Amino acid sequence: MEFKQSSKLSGVCYEIRGPVVERAKALEEAGHSVMRLNTGNPALFGFEAPPEILQDIILQLPSAHGYSDSRGILPARRAVVQYYQSRGVEGVEVDDVYLGNGVSELVSMAVQALVDDGDEVLVPAPDFPLWTAVVTLAGGKAVHYVCDESADWYPDLDDMAAKITDRTKAIVLINPNNPTGAVYSHELIEGVLDLARRHHLIVFADEIYDKILYDDAVHHCAAALAPDVLCVTFSGLSKAYRVAGFRSGWLVVSGPKQHAASYLEGLTMLASMRLCPNVPAQHAVQAALGGKQSINDLVLPGGRLREQRDRAWELLNEIPGVTCVKPKGALYAFPRLDPAVHPIHDDEKFVLDLLLREKIQVVQGTGFNWPKPDHFRILTLPAVDDLEAAIGRIARFLEGYRQ
Ligand code: PLP
Repeated sequence: MEFKQSSKLSGVCYEIRGPVVERAKALEEAGHSVMRLNTGNPALFGFEAPPEILQDIILQLPSAHGYSDSRGILPARRAVVQYYQSRGVEGVEVDDVYLGNGVSELVSMAVQALVDDGDEVLVPAPDFPLWTAVVTLAGGKAVHYVCDESADWYPDLDDMAAKITDRTKAIVLINPNNPTGAVYSHELIEGVLDLARRHHLIVFADEIYDKILYDDAVHHCAAALAPDVLCVTFSGLSKAYRVAGFRSGWLVVSGPKQHAASYLEGLTMLASMRLCPNVPAQHAVQAALGGKQSINDLVLPGGRLREQRDRAWELLNEIPGVTCVKPKGALYAFPRLDPAVHPIHDDEKFVLDLLLREKIQVVQGTGFNWPKPDHFRILTLPAVDDLEAAIGRIARFLEGYRQ
């Protein structure tokens, strides 16, 4: 008698931590040193947690051993309210804020509470694949709208509009974007909000990289632009505050909540079913949002993240047959392999071959629900020397690689 996984999991994929990861682990166990450029975990690349966050958690730890309110502790939710007020979002109160064990848990709750079997959610291609996985697991259908590489990876609004049906419930907007690094203009976001407004859709705005911006990029909070659209905005401490392991994030509901009483009741029930998020990590939220925003030192000219982004982008574009749109935010680059120069038919095999030959782990573009096997994602988190070594090895590998 075999124990089988549930049929709910068929069609659910999450390649960032997929089969290639197991091969990388096996290589490491066999004594090889693998450059893991697959997960956006700043701690792995020598980024330290802001001291005020650590101090606050240490200080609060002795009194953080009980469950909290299932939405989260009040001081943290107040800090989140203040942050979104400062970003121009109207009418947000503490009960509109739900803290979670990272944005990941909240994405799952927000989708589970909304989606019925067969309901559709518009998700970008490429996407952060958790969104597609969670919609699929909820019995829904992730319908991918195209982001256009030739237009700085902006969503194609015509494509988005053409894919709205009477089963569509929500639009996911990831800004700044993982994996492309795109940061959307005011006009583009207005265009998306207008579709949501006209078709009565919820906007799920994943803004976890809202403070990781380069050059002249400005982040516009979608919820601030449309007080008349129901928005669920997600962010947290994993990226801008470099404490991914604490698992601390939040979601904020804004807009016409009076038309969403049943949805919000469902969300609140799911929040209480997980009892509450990890309490010590909730204490980090107020310290983070209220304190010095040390991410600025990393993204401004001369900052480590900015220099790494610049160098990665330059080096990738120097590889024959590789082009990369300059990321304006986040922690990734998403280069294209010209099929005329690098005819790759199976990009999972490509990343596996790269791993086996050069001991470098990246993620294949199809892992982000990109429809063609002609992209991969690389982190811009490693120090410049390591990026130079890694991209040099990718160039050498590509030179002789044929599928
Ligand atoms: N959303 C996006 C776009 C991400 O890239 C990530 C992590 O990489 C998450 C959400 C999940 O973050 P968390 O660590 O808060 O679960």
